[in-house]
Amino acid sequence: MEDSKFEVVAVDGLARLGYLKTGHGNVQTPVFMPVGTNANVKLLSTRDLEELQAEIILSNSYHLAVKPGVDVIKSLGGLHSFMDWRGGILTDSGGFQIFSLRKLIEVDDEGVLITSPVDGSKLFLTPELSIRIQRDLGSDIVMVLDQCGHPNSSYLETKDALRRTHAWAKRSVQVGVADNQMLFGIAQGGMFSDLRRMSAQYLAGLNFDGYAVGGLSIGEPLDLTLEMTYETTNNLPRDKARYFMGGGSPDLIVQLVDLGVDMFDSVFPTRIARHGTALTSYGRLNVRSSKFKTDKSPIDMNCDCFVCRRFSRAYIHHLFDRKEVLGGTLLSFHNIRFMMNLMRRIRESILKGSFKLLKKEVLELYEQKRDSNCDVVGNDRGFNTG
Ligand SMILES: [Zn+2]
Repeated sequence: MEDSKFEVVAVDGLARLGYLKTGHGNVQTPVFMPVGTNANVKLLSTRDLEELQAEIILSNSYHLAVKPGVDVIKSLGGLHSFMDWRGGILTDSGGFQIFSLRKLIEVDDEGVLITSPVDGSKLFLTPELSIRIQRDLGSDIVMVLDQCGHPNSSYLETKDALRRTHAWAKRSVQVGVADNQMLFGIAQGGMFSDLRRMSAQYLAGLNFDGYAVGGLSIGEPLDLTLEMTYETTNNLPRDKARYFMGGGSPDLIVQLVDLGVDMFDSVFPTRIARHGTALTSYGRLNVRSSKFKTDKSPIDMNCDCFVCRRFSRAYIHHLFDRKEVLGGTLLSFHNIRFMMNLMRRIRESILKGSFKLLKKEVLELYEQKRDSNCDVVGNDRGFNTG
């Protein structure tokens, strides 16, 4: 009997408190994974991530295969050793690039030919090669190669992409991962309820270690994001982790936890930090605003991070005004701290049975017309193709 790699400890409605046993420690869920596409979370060192108590981060196997190359990382002892990170690593397969680099790819049933926007090099990525790359990187969670559609794809296009995604999932299971790795399937199905259900049910039959909800938060309306997620999670096995790919604003997270999602990643907190926006217990705060020029108070009075203990809004405002990198560095640290504290509060509330109250509080502070610059593509998870 194989050991269960995921345990649900408590539930509150559909929300689940649990933990995931990775080759690099246990990860408490619901979890937010900071995004480190190029083997770094932008502007943060692994020492920062340790201080922030991040338990797992996301990296991207396609990007690393282009630069510096899998052989380089393998010769330096694998991705954990290369970037000196002792926590968990989930690696994305390259499937998202089929969406974000759509002008630079050619897909057929065998695989996908990707032309790198970095150096023009071509890589023919197959499901088998993607798994081998992620085995060589030594990531803790390996994602299958899938074909992510577009919000406006037709039913027939979506159905055809789903047929391919399912065939690739089956081929990935046949290759398999190392004993200390987990393999996650990715459910697709675009914006169509029946295809979402079909995808979740098909993948459930392949007995993955966990399941991702893919192809959402790509520009569709929020109602549809939630409806398609529910169609997926409702048809997945209850004893496996569920990961919503590429969505991580506080308001979206609480709504998805409420549908039974356990894992999240997004560039959102670090990207808005680099543009001068802090996540706080009073909502978003744009520190570039001139009203903070002489404000002695910290970014967030209720935050325990060193940035909030030591620096004033006026100082950080000044750094942004002078375009000093340190401004973005300090806000990135604070924003990840905010996310880690939010996830801890979510976990505590599930245990206490008060998750709905916390959800209401977060929605009141953060629900707003979704900013097209925030939760969608063209971010540093994929290349920005402009
Ligand atoms: Zn702080």
